[in-house]
Amino acid sequence: MNINVRLLIRPKPEVDESFLGYILRLTEKNLYETPSWILKMAGLGDKEFRQNNSLVFRPHENLDGLTQLVGVNVDGIAQLLYPPVAASDSTYLHYFFGQPVPQDLIRLNRPKICPACLSESPYCRRVWEFSAVTACPTHRRLLIDECPKCKRRISWSRKNVTVCPCNFDWREFPTPSVAEQQLRLICHIYQLCGIPVAGVGPLKVPEPISRLSLNDLLRVLFFVAGQQRGISAATSRHLVAAGKSQNFHSILTEAYSVFEDWPTNYFRFLDKRRVQERNVTRTYQRMKSALYGAFGSFYSGLYGVLSGSQFDFMRIAFIDYITQKQAEDCNLSRHPRKRDTGALNRPYVLKSDARRLLGIEYPWIDHHVRKGEIKTLVQSKGKKRLIFVDLIDITKVKLTQNSC
Ligand SMILES: [Zn+2]
Ligand SMILES: [Zn+2]
Repeated sequence: MNINVRLLIRPKPEVDESFLGYILRLTEKNLYETPSWILKMAGLGDKEFRQNNSLVFRPHENLDGLTQLVGVNVDGIAQLLYPPVAASDSTYLHYFFGQPVPQDLIRLNRPKICPACLSESPYCRRVWEFSAVTACPTHRRLLIDECPKCKRRISWSRKNVTVCPCNFDWREFPTPSVAEQQLRLICHIYQLCGIPVAGVGPLKVPEPISRLSLNDLLRVLFFVAGQQRGISAATSRHLVAAGKSQNFHSILTEAYSVFEDWPTNYFRFLDKRRVQERNVTRTYQRMKSALYGAFGSFYSGLYGVLSGSQFDFMRIAFIDYITQKQAEDCNLSRHPRKRDTGALNRPYVLKSDARRLLGIEYPWIDHHVRKGEIKTLVQSKGKKRLIFVDLIDITKVKLTQNSC
């Protein structure tokens, strides 16, 4: 590394500029062929630029070369990075506009752009690197991640900020416009990141998700998105992540709408989920829990991936849903055969389901059953005795306790 070298043209980074975008801008201004030159001169490695993405996720220990090269102090450059969250129990969290998020939500290998933003000011915005940001709320247009002319994926290995290696100037491309309703998630993300959106007033965020952090918001959205596509909770993010930005856009917008008009859309989602699950055979599991049988990985995800108390609203509304459904089913099935098989005119759930959904322990349930506050119902299934508890009783007792 030669720290005496200075670039001829040394623009300062913009506050919301992407680090790799800044390197690209330096490349363009100084007429280099590829950003790798700047990285080499800055002593940031001589690998291909593409493989150097990871430096954005490291703490800024070796920026001296770059600061020399561009005459900007370390802080000015460090603010463009996504440093790891120190003292975090999960080591893969990184700061994104001050919000801790998993590294895989920041996608550097598929750069996206808003041609209209580039027309106004030709530099790459950091916020475009977030996987869930798929449109520009200012221009109400989709971001693009492939060149509309040569159809190649946009890459960092180029020499111009706004012009494709095929010579097409992306600023000339009129990207598809997006309806206001499809921008709500992105406006929500901007709000959490403290990024103002020109021309948009105070945002009305759906109530149940209004208190979630960016990480939790994305967690619940990916969970729902995976469920809508029959992908189990654990892998949804990875499978969804393989897609193009446009696919992402429809997947996440659809998932976000589940939380709007709460709980109507959520109930509609649960209706669909139940139908979807009918085609899946989980014989052994059905024995353990009727709710698992009816909702599959959605049900297990409710107390698995979404076990934190910030997601209580999902479980509470789920209980409301099954209460409502069971009441409806009872009203519909007045004919004798159904009544013989243990017709319930109140919603009962397996004791084990009540424990999972409400986060309570068996001794607690037994205690209140003995006091006569919670009704139970016992059914035999082969050699097994299944114990059901009255869902309304149990939620009532739990709520009274919580409010004391
Ligand atoms: Zn824009
Ligand atoms: Zn092109």
